[in-house]
Amino acid sequence: MKALRFFEPGRVAVVEVPDPAPGPGEVLLRVHATGLCNSDVRVYQGEKKAAAGVVPGHEITGEIAALGAGAPGSVGEVVSVCPILCCGRCSFCREGYRNRCPSRKTLGYDLDGGIADYVVIPAALAAMGHLIPVDPATPPYIRALVEPLACVLNSLESLDVRPASPLAIVGGGPMGLIHLIAARFMGAGPIMVVEPDAARRGVAKELGASAAVAPEDALAAGRELTGGEGFPAVAVAVGLAPAVPLALDLARRLGRVNLFAGFPPGASHTLDLNRVHYDEVRIFGTQNAPFPLYWRSARMVGELPLLERIVTNRYTLAEAASAYAARLGHEGLKSAVVMGPRGS
Ligand SMILES: [Zn+2]
Ligand SMILES: [Zn+2]
Repeated sequence: MKALRFFEPGRVAVVEVPDPAPGPGEVLLRVHATGLCNSDVRVYQGEKKAAAGVVPGHEITGEIAALGAGAPGSVGEVVSVCPILCCGRCSFCREGYRNRCPSRKTLGYDLDGGIADYVVIPAALAAMGHLIPVDPATPPYIRALVEPLACVLNSLESLDVRPASPLAIVGGGPMGLIHLIAARFMGAGPIMVVEPDAARRGVAKELGASAAVAPEDALAAGRELTGGEGFPAVAVAVGLAPAVPLALDLARRLGRVNLFAGFPPGASHTLDLNRVHYDEVRIFGTQNAPFPLYWRSARMVGELPLLERIVTNRYTLAEAASAYAARLGHEGLKSAVVMGPRGS
């Protein structure tokens, strides 16, 4: 079979590797599609660590092709993957926060991921129920969004976004726009997207943003949308430090600010601490998602037709290296590698 391998920052290549066979408890997944995440690009740029020689890709969907002895599931079942391997015993695991387990390993970084014809799902991951059934009628590149959508649901839940509650999203890239789509689905509003790129602001408007504004116009527009109060919830969906003080300024008293995007190593910024004390603005981060949100996400992806607008770039496995180039060149929004006939 063919697989994309990450060798070192700046070097990935599609190579021929031996056909894998599942061992006891393992599941062989024939990959249908794998999304390329901004964090995969950060690995490529040397900003985030991954094992040398690993197959990247943690946003995986496919069908069960073979089962090792005693493995759960049935051949032919279509699933999306929660790519997190955890100990199952620590306090985080017990509380459902498998994403916070200190011995967490993730497919696509520590273990082979999904940018390949097949991926062997480790026995522990299969046993934990991390192969989540998903409607086979949903296109593969949409099913590959179960992981990123779960991350967004974690963000929106942590921000306490509810029907009719105003939301500001700083950053109109793919993850910011998935925030917009999911929050609208949940009935939140008005929703303002802050984004310097005019084309992306246009997409945000088409996807139903009440306002899509450049950063320099954000404070005035936000005040107008919220009757001068500011937003109860602000998601920072861009890994740029100066976005954080802006997000803090957009928040109302008692508002919540979630640092959803990862930042370059060592990123720091000065903040007005009295917004935290006197105005009781809560600032926190979310990364990945607790396991139950994967199930919610797997049910939801098929109900969000607007997600079609997010996966703008699709590549065959042979073209997988170009998917990185497109992201680095900020071409389109999200990229997915679709195995077999494109988009099928
Ligand atoms: Zn991701
Ligand atoms: Zn654990």
